[in-house]
Amino acid sequence: MSVRTPFYYYDLTLLENTLEEMQAAINNPNFKVHYAIKANAEDRILHTIKKHGLGADCVSGNEIKKALEIGFEPQDIVLAGIGKSDEELELAISQGIHSINCESIEELEVINEIAERHEAIASIAFRINPNVDAQTHHKITTGLNENKFGIPITELDAAVDEILKHKNLALKGIHFHIGSQILNLNPFANLCQQANNVTTSLKARGIVLEHINVGGGLGINYTNPDSQLIPNFVEYFRVFEKFLNLEEGQTVHFELGRSIVGQCGSLVSKVLYVKKGASSNFAIIDAGMTDLIRPALYNAFHKVENISKDGELEPYHVVGPICESSDTFGKTELPKTSRGDFLIIKSAGAYGQVLSSNYNLRDRAAAIYSDDISLENYISSRETVSELLAV
Ligand SMILES: *Cc1c(COP(=O)(O)O)cnc(C)c1O
Repeated sequence: MSVRTPFYYYDLTLLENTLEEMQAAINNPNFKVHYAIKANAEDRILHTIKKHGLGADCVSGNEIKKALEIGFEPQDIVLAGIGKSDEELELAISQGIHSINCESIEELEVINEIAERHEAIASIAFRINPNVDAQTHHKITTGLNENKFGIPITELDAAVDEILKHKNLALKGIHFHIGSQILNLNPFANLCQQANNVTTSLKARGIVLEHINVGGGLGINYTNPDSQLIPNFVEYFRVFEKFLNLEEGQTVHFELGRSIVGQCGSLVSKVLYVKKGASSNFAIIDAGMTDLIRPALYNAFHKVENISKDGELEPYHVVGPICESSDTFGKTELPKTSRGDFLIIKSAGAYGQVLSSNYNLRDRAAAIYSDDISLENYISSRETVSELLAV
């Protein structure tokens, strides 16, 4: 068995360093991070994350199963999702996970019925739509009134009335998630303000929550990844320290995905052809939107580097082999590039491999880890990897 390009390459040392820096940035013993599994669900990534003491944030039943299989305790698992199926709720309730983040009033009744059947009390957090603009790409904005997510603040009283009617439900927390790839921290400060308003109005009704879940969304530097391989977690957590009003013993949950795994992954590809175009040359590579869909889906920018060559830079339009015009990694400058060169697409650790497909009946990219072989060694000796993976 040999590993062909394209493949994902994960730098586990960078992941460890990121996790260590993140944990060191937390000054408050009541702050806890749940990793958003949907960003990257590779076993070795998850094992590393679990080892550093994070919980798991799931958005499907299969993600709960995966978290349990990796060894996360049910009490360290939370479930969100705007359309949870009855089977997914059954699983969450029968496993006794920490909390189900409820996104509509109608859902409460369904959860109650399932909990009653299991003779359980389901711990509920209301996912509230705070109407806070995350100032990010519209397709990854989730906390505005026009978005489908969460219970509108105006419905909060009605949701409380409803939950109090159900004896198999316990309101334990509130949950927000305003979007992703958020680099300006002001939206998080606005979110704190909204969370404070909610906790104040709940307190007026005699309800004191166990936890406040502020979601995820911290962004990473895609433009110049090497200048900031680890996001500024200190500043991020400081916003919540400063602006969130907490009661004695109340815990704050964070659900970070991209900021933890984004920079540790690269997509490694090979140049198949270089073709003259009208304005610049096309570098046609063997990786495409089936391996990394972010550019096609969100117009996302990923830095591309030619690691086989040095020298003066020339303009190239880097494109994949799929029969879609959106299958492009954008225009960039590379040293004189030719067939057989290795091109790496950086910052692909989050929402990369998990979103791959086999459109065009293409094979899915494999994953290679820095603990097994360095990228340099892979490139200089493919035999090593074949031997390694044949074991
Ligand atoms: C996707 C998601 C996250 C993680 O977002 P990142 O931007 O990767 O940090 C957290 N919480 C919920 C509910 C999500 O859907």
